Amino acid sequence: MNFRILRRWIVGLAAGLGVSGAQALPTAAPVAPTHTDAVVALTDANVVAIDSGEAVRNATVVIRDGKIVDVGPSVSVAVPEGARVVPMGGRWLIPGLMNMHVHFGLILPGAQGAELANETPAEEALRMAANARKSLLAGVTTVRLVGETRGVDFGLRRAIQKGEVIGPRIKTAGEIIVPTGGHGYLEADGPYALAHAVREQIKQGADWIKIAISGGIADTHGAIAAAPMTDDELSTLIDVAHRNGIPVTAHNGSPEAAQQSLEYGIDCFEHGYHLTEANLKEMKAKGAWLVPTIVVTQPGAREFYKKIGSPDWYLARVDSTGKDHWKMLQTAIRLGVNIGLGTDQFPFEPNDGTTATVAEAELYVKAGMTPLQALQSGTTQTARLLKMEGEVGRIQPGYFADIVALESDPTRDISALRSISFVMKNGVIYRDDSRNYLAQF
Ligand SMILES: [Zn+2]
Repeated sequence: MNFRILRRWIVGLAAGLGVSGAQALPTAAPVAPTHTDAVVALTDANVVAIDSGEAVRNATVVIRDGKIVDVGPSVSVAVPEGARVVPMGGRWLIPGLMNMHVHFGLILPGAQGAELANETPAEEALRMAANARKSLLAGVTTVRLVGETRGVDFGLRRAIQKGEVIGPRIKTAGEIIVPTGGHGYLEADGPYALAHAVREQIKQGADWIKIAISGGIADTHGAIAAAPMTDDELSTLIDVAHRNGIPVTAHNGSPEAAQQSLEYGIDCFEHGYHLTEANLKEMKAKGAWLVPTIVVTQPGAREFYKKIGSPDWYLARVDSTGKDHWKMLQTAIRLGVNIGLGTDQFPFEPNDGTTATVAEAELYVKAGMTPLQALQSGTTQTARLLKMEGEVGRIQPGYFADIVALESDPTRDISALRSISFVMKNGVIYRDDSRNYLAQF
């Protein structure tokens, strides 16, 4: 690739990442990648201890074979001989961000969606791979996919694991299982057909089961607050998933459907648009999770909907849903419901001058969380949600080296997340603006 093409590519990528001129991505040729370094030492860093919010100043992080082996003040951490030393210039290190509501193949109503109407599986796979790469470069090192089609997500997960494609760690729910006419593609009716659909997804490699127990904003039929599944259907579906050790999450905006599914032990709700205080108290009591995706209904998303050519009826539905959604989020935070950060937009999608992932965290603070709680909702809490505690979500020995660097302390101001300038996953540096480095493939 000659320089001019490389530059055009990087500028295009910067636009795709929603990076503003003030923090434009590098335009010089990248330095050599670090994929082959077994031992890396990040020095001259401030490491945010994500549980306490304290920071270890002037710290060194030692990484060996993709895992963190030592963290502490530089005076007490020895840099192993032969390590590749990467001075961080006083930047602030936090665990890589985790986004729990992602569709890499997302298609919404509107002009952009219409263009993709006849997309082949091969085209979809390539588009999803591009979205995976942009997500990682935006600082998101783990995602939970909650509804893809045609099994492309399983293939993409394998390709990323093999290093054929750049992207975040993937946990996936496969296809969304719904009763006929529901908010998803894999339709099944009656307990046995639903049980079959659940087993099919698990057989293909699903880490979660995603169902839709109420309508969606994009649906043109049925009420968003209805609860269309029968007790038999819901209880059997959840039971079958749990017997396989697989948790269940539901697209849900309906109080009635929430109450019904909590009774049968559902693990998590997405969106929760119209959930009541009683629903949220029940969730708190049962330890159920909420993935708010608040960015999709708040004013910051307006530009996005215009960009993709969303029809007026859709915008009106977003606005009216947004008011309940916001109040619900404030109540959930006040009650201390388990919240895992998720966006339902591409993790890198421009939103309110930053990415959807960062905007989501900022809105949590606006709705009542401390900056530290908002950070935890996208790191330690999401690790707990995924049952990956001890693996990701902290900068501690024994954890995968998934690390993001910022220009300032995010526990003082969550908007520090806007200044992501370094991304490491599994010990490999994929982006370092201070060295004009961006991984290409
Ligand atoms: Zn979604």
